[in-house]
Amino acid sequence: MATGAEQLYEEILRRNPGEPEFHQAAREVLESLGPVLAERPELVEARIVERICEPERQIIFRVPWQDDAGRVQVNRGFRVEYNSALGPYKGGLRFHPSVNLGIVKFLGFEQIFKNALTGLGIGGGKGGSDFDPRGRSDAEVMRFCQAFMTELHRHLGEHTDVPAGDIGVGGREIGYLFGQYRRITNRWEGGVLTGKGLGWGGSPVRTEATGYGNVLFTAEMLRARGEDLHGQQVVVSGSGNVALYSIEKALALGANVLTCSDSSGYVVDEKGIDLDLLKQVKEVERARVDVYAERRGSSARFVADGQVWDVPADVALPSATQNELDADAALTLVRNGVKAVSEGANMPTTPEAVRVFQEAGVAFGPGKAANAGGVATSALEMRQNAGREPLGFAQVEAELAGIMRDIHTTCAASAEHYGCPGDYVTGANLAGFNRVADAMLAQGLI
Ligand code: GLU
Repeated sequence: MATGAEQLYEEILRRNPGEPEFHQAAREVLESLGPVLAERPELVEARIVERICEPERQIIFRVPWQDDAGRVQVNRGFRVEYNSALGPYKGGLRFHPSVNLGIVKFLGFEQIFKNALTGLGIGGGKGGSDFDPRGRSDAEVMRFCQAFMTELHRHLGEHTDVPAGDIGVGGREIGYLFGQYRRITNRWEGGVLTGKGLGWGGSPVRTEATGYGNVLFTAEMLRARGEDLHGQQVVVSGSGNVALYSIEKALALGANVLTCSDSSGYVVDEKGIDLDLLKQVKEVERARVDVYAERRGSSARFVADGQVWDVPADVALPSATQNELDADAALTLVRNGVKAVSEGANMPTTPEAVRVFQEAGVAFGPGKAANAGGVATSALEMRQNAGREPLGFAQVEAELAGIMRDIHTTCAASAEHYGCPGDYVTGANLAGFNRVADAMLAQGLI
């Protein structure tokens, strides 16, 4: 890390104690910035890096609600409005017991650069709550969402801050959140949330977009090496939205998907994952992956301890959560001949594991680039809402494919320009950073 960046990192540690995920995300970007700061002294003078690392606004609030037994529950809500140089704050809401300020800041920080890479007009933000939707009834989830939006609504707006989903926030939650926003504000403001239902302002392909986009990015990385996904063995972790639609797209491109997982363990299916069955178990019944193995018959096995990374594969798509793939897992994948790893989740690969992949010459797609298809399609949803002009599935899917191709080209060109060809991590960080930095510089000291 350059000396200035090292000092700034020390200051980040001091001023943001107890936020290891945020430190990790900031460090990764700071480590990449050397070449750009050497090339652009005006950015150093304007202290753009210091400004980018500090959120424009952080909102923390109480969310009181009543469960089905009539007991009062108290959760904590967050929205970190990180950077609006390129557009309204944009990024999902995560409902998971692990959510705290450091997690939201890491996600928001990554979101700035991810959104910049899409080439669209969206700033970076993220939010959520330590509320755990698992095991809660629909009525409890609704009451929680209504309580959450009762505070959050005053900070939102289609030109101000536009949340969407993330872990624990899907179509059901977005529906309840949108309903409460509409009730409180008396405005039918479609562009204030994305991931809406198709009948009321949602965009085709938004549900599928993060997983589809990640597989399209993987295909681009393979194409740059003269290969494609056809016939490749793929391991996917997770079984939420990103995992399901990664599996769907990988299958459509002729790959064979061997695994999925959740926090209880993983499933390996020798015949390849049966996506209809998995969707039934996870999306309709909201059950765990062992139920999939039980119903699938002899080809599938549920493994309670261990990780999908133990299963030999050509391609790995970590699609569950942060830091789920460590150096030991990376070494196992490399030993088993993995060619490409692409992050469907946000920061699922530890820094040490990223190093293992890069040193072994594995194509590695960082989440900022590889999973940007979700938020890019959110921006297409905002465009449709603003123009009151819905698009068809095929048109949005074609736009998504074009965006993912462009992101791959941008990252590859940026890596080449800064002297590290094939390093998509540095390429993504520097291309995203340059776009935000240019806008911040032009807009003055704010
Ligand atoms: N939560 C998603 C992400 O990590 C999507 C955000 C959005 O669509 O605003 O990028």
